[in-house]
Amino acid sequence: MSQSCSIEKCTRTSRGLCDCCQQNLCLQHLNEHNTLLVSLLNPLADELNALGVRLETLNIEKVIGNSRQKLEQWRQDCHKKIDCFFGQKCQELNQLIQETVTKQVEELNQIQMKITEFIDTQETTRHDIDSLTLTIRQLQINMNNIERTCFTINTRPLPIDDTSVFITKTTEIELDLSTLSPAYTTIHRSEESFRSFTGNDRHFLIHQAPNLCLFDRKMNIVKQMLWLYGTIWDMCWSSILDRFIVLGKKSIYLINENTLSIDNVYTTVGRDLISCTCSDTVLFACTNEGASSIMEFTLFPAIEVIKEW
Ligand SMILES: [Zn+2]
Ligand SMILES: [Zn+2]
Repeated sequence: MSQSCSIEKCTRTSRGLCDCCQQNLCLQHLNEHNTLLVSLLNPLADELNALGVRLETLNIEKVIGNSRQKLEQWRQDCHKKIDCFFGQKCQELNQLIQETVTKQVEELNQIQMKITEFIDTQETTRHDIDSLTLTIRQLQINMNNIERTCFTINTRPLPIDDTSVFITKTTEIELDLSTLSPAYTTIHRSEESFRSFTGNDRHFLIHQAPNLCLFDRKMNIVKQMLWLYGTIWDMCWSSILDRFIVLGKKSIYLINENTLSIDNVYTTVGRDLISCTCSDTVLFACTNEGASSIMEFTLFPAIEVIKEW
């Protein structure tokens, strides 16, 4: 005996298994279910169209805009660094030749004056003539040397590779801490070392009792100096001064990363300092007291308080 339609109250004979509900249905209900399924196609088509439109109108420039700006900033910073270095080396070249030229000019002037004097007074000796001749010969040799000066310039190409600029793709809301790279290396610090640290794009500075230490980007100590000025509360880097700023209990010190000189540039009267940060033009330092104040200092030409609040 043939099976009847699975729909309640339908007495018609089932004609097949409907693939949407997995029930045996009569022809009419199979049709109904099919129509229902077909009607679902249109909204899907609409959604797909909308996606197509979004894809067509996608502004790729806008998506990469911010990142491109960062790349552009990196490019400009690198160019600036190269231009600055190039300027220094040009000056060095100039200085190397200028010293010899200046000396030659001075000697030339001197002997010129002597000859003029002899001509003016219309008097000279054999010895003077011999001496003048000898000096002029020497100046000629010097001049030949100056004209034949050349420099050997040894250069090496800048190492730029994928580690200089490393691009990873993320979505806007995503912050996945597991994508942080693992610790590169660990620096163990003694109990007596003061905790603050800071860095610029070449070095970072920490206190490793009893020294202040400069580390390079590969975490090697490149320079260190004995620190004899008491507690370090905070430190920061000032690119405009080209110095590290170290905050002591009552004093502000400037550290030159090349010469490792330490200059005490400011000392407070009767109050302690605790933390600091700086912009391109000013330094802010926070006082260590109950109702703490923020002091604003000029960086240039001298470190001086301009405001407090
Ligand atoms: Zn069905
Ligand atoms: Zn039916």
